[in-house]
Amino acid sequence: MIEFRQVTKRYDSDHIALRAVNFHLDRGELAFLTGHSGAGKSTLLKLIMVMERPTAGEVIVGGQKLNSLPRRQIPYIRRHIGVVFQNHQLLFDRTVFDNVAMPLEVMGASPEDTGRRVRAALDKVGLLKKEKMNPMQLSGGEQQRVGIARAVVNKPPVLLADEPTGNLDPELSADIMRLFTQFSQVGVTVLVATHDIALINEMNRRTLTLNQGQLVAGGGVSGH
Ligand code: ADP
Ligand code: ADP
Repeated sequence: MIEFRQVTKRYDSDHIALRAVNFHLDRGELAFLTGHSGAGKSTLLKLIMVMERPTAGEVIVGGQKLNSLPRRQIPYIRRHIGVVFQNHQLLFDRTVFDNVAMPLEVMGASPEDTGRRVRAALDKVGLLKKEKMNPMQLSGGEQQRVGIARAVVNKPPVLLADEPTGNLDPELSADIMRLFTQFSQVGVTVLVATHDIALINEMNRRTLTLNQGQLVAGGGVSGH
């Protein structure tokens, strides 16, 4: 579902953010992405979201080579990629329902379709009863779950998470990881960037480890 072939990203002439990175994540695989600050984690996620383009090598998502993708196709690719952020980026001037509905609004979904899909997503994260509330009224863990509902409301085949448990205590982090595990069980490929070594050890999943732009562990095909 996600494949990197010899991917190098250079931001300026002498600064290499990723060096010849190779890995392949299958459909339904849940993996971690880790490494020190500056190791290249955000760059790797941005290449998948087509927010950056590789300097060399090939990024392939869902069988589509992203290098040669015309600019106008980028929004369509992004619909297939759900993204969860550490600070969840919810809007506090609208309800939980309307926050989750945002990606559908962009696509021009009908009100009936939107209602059905938003409620299905809120149900998955256990927040169906809070659809009319303002996210400000929710706890940190609940806000993060609203962010997850928004990321999956399109039913994307790929879910990326950038430090999704950064502000949460271990118990709430475990809740979030249980949700990600459930999504992977229905075929979503989930990649979680995190510094949280305790969480990684607890989950015992494949872990892609970057060190100064080089993939030093977890590369190759379904390697643990
Ligand atoms: P991480 O997410 O692991 O902290 P990043 O991917 O953000 O790592 O950064 C990898 C390297 O690339 C760092 O040295 C960083 O300074 C550099 N970098 C990231 N984004 C840019 C950019 N837009 N322009 C120039 N250098 C960048
Ligand atoms: P634009 O969409 O206007 O081209 P960006 O690509 O920078 O601008 O994305 C705007 C914001 O949306 C950024 O915060 C980015 O991280 C986020 N974003 C990009 N792709 C996705 C996605 N597939 N799902 C959710 N958020 C995304």
